[in-house]
Amino acid sequence: MATKEQDRTFTEEDRTPAEEMTTLGQCRYCEEDAVRMATHKDGTGWIAICDKHEKDAKDDEFEPGKDS
Ligand SMILES: [Zn+2]
Repeated sequence: MATKEQDRTFTEEDRTPAEEMTTLGQCRYCEEDAVRMATHKDGTGWIAICDKHEKDAKDDEFEPGKDS
C-alpha cells in the first residue's frame, strides 16, 4: 500500500557534507526556513530541518541538533 514517495530514503547525495557548514537555508521536508541541522547517525552529513520536522529527521536516521 505504501507508495515509493513515502518510502524513499536519503541517499548520500541528498546530504550536505559534514565539513560544509553553510547556512541552513530551507527545511529538507518543507519550504519553511530551517532552524537547526540534523546530523546523520553515521556521521557522513547533515540536513537542515525546521521544528516541525524533527521527528521526520529522526525517522530518517538523523539526529537533530540542539539549540545553542
Ligand atoms: Zn520542515
